[in-house]
Amino acid sequence: MSKGRDDFSEDERVFRASFQRYGPTSSVTRLDEDGVREILFGYIDRRDINAIASLQAGVELIGIFSGLPNYLSRYFDILLSDPDAFVEIGDPSKEAIDQHDVERPPKCEVRSRAAQALSLCAQFFVLFHEMGHIKLCHLHLVRDEFAAEYYEELPLIAISEKEARIRRCLEVQADHLAAFTSLNWWRMKWRDNPLEVHADLSLNPDLLWSIAVISLFLIFDHLRADKAKDRTSTHPTPYQRLIMLTMYASSEEAAKLAHIEPLAKSAHPLLVWGSLSEWWGRRKYLSDNPQAKVEEAARDLVNLMLDDEYMDMLANYQKRRGYQFWSKGDTSRFNPFLNREDLNAISSEIQKFRGNV
Ligand SMILES: [Zn+2]
Repeated sequence: MSKGRDDFSEDERVFRASFQRYGPTSSVTRLDEDGVREILFGYIDRRDINAIASLQAGVELIGIFSGLPNYLSRYFDILLSDPDAFVEIGDPSKEAIDQHDVERPPKCEVRSRAAQALSLCAQFFVLFHEMGHIKLCHLHLVRDEFAAEYYEELPLIAISEKEARIRRCLEVQADHLAAFTSLNWWRMKWRDNPLEVHADLSLNPDLLWSIAVISLFLIFDHLRADKAKDRTSTHPTPYQRLIMLTMYASSEEAAKLAHIEPLAKSAHPLLVWGSLSEWWGRRKYLSDNPQAKVEEAARDLVNLMLDDEYMDMLANYQKRRGYQFWSKGDTSRFNPFLNREDLNAISSEIQKFRGNV
């Protein structure tokens, strides 16, 4: 039954007005992560896949298209229905090979619960990534610099090479913030409220987190309307995002600065990526040569650092918003910017890894 005008709360009215250009909206939740501001979060009733952050008259909002959870739950069902995918989860011998990608949950109970957990975990990574854009004040920057009112994830074509380059740097920052906040959150939910996350305590939450996040990068790249990986692409390639993820989540030093335990060795992003890209290749979803893509991604990593001018601009916006995430020379927080030596080290690690597969 559709709601009459008076049935909407004030939050729902604001949310609906902000996102009505995309479609009808759902009920709305207030997110209050850092006690600075509240962010309005809800779903937009659309079959396609997108996540959008926006700043409207001082209100910060995140809208996710309902196509995203639908796609994710189908994808993870298909993944874990394959007896050869992630055999360490549950009892894969209960699954039967199905060449037609028929949508059905895995037959093994544990794998079925894992598929649900993966879908939820991936959605939360997207949510934390959007929160990253908001908290790091990327919305202020793209509004003032590029006259963009809505920060869309898919598909997005920048108007200039400069805008594309800046946006790719912002994406890396948002992934960085999302990596630690979502991993921390996921572990807490797994431990404290296992029913809510469909947790089977025999499973390793770190492994599920890695599978969920790396799958997301592959899915987003696969769905990108602008398949040409040209200079106006607004997002780093999934391979670049993978390299960054490897840096953040499995680095002991980085985890220490973020006050969390590093990712379990068995959930190392490179191992999980190896399994996933093998599966995607078998399913013919990946047509290009992953080895060449990794090498290209590694070469281009130094372009994913923000210029000083923009770093200062963001720092000023953050002061105005009321909470500064980082500043130059501040070592008390994990600096979201990577240096050249780190990037070179990680790219050679990835190339070595690919050489062994
Ligand atoms: Zn983004």
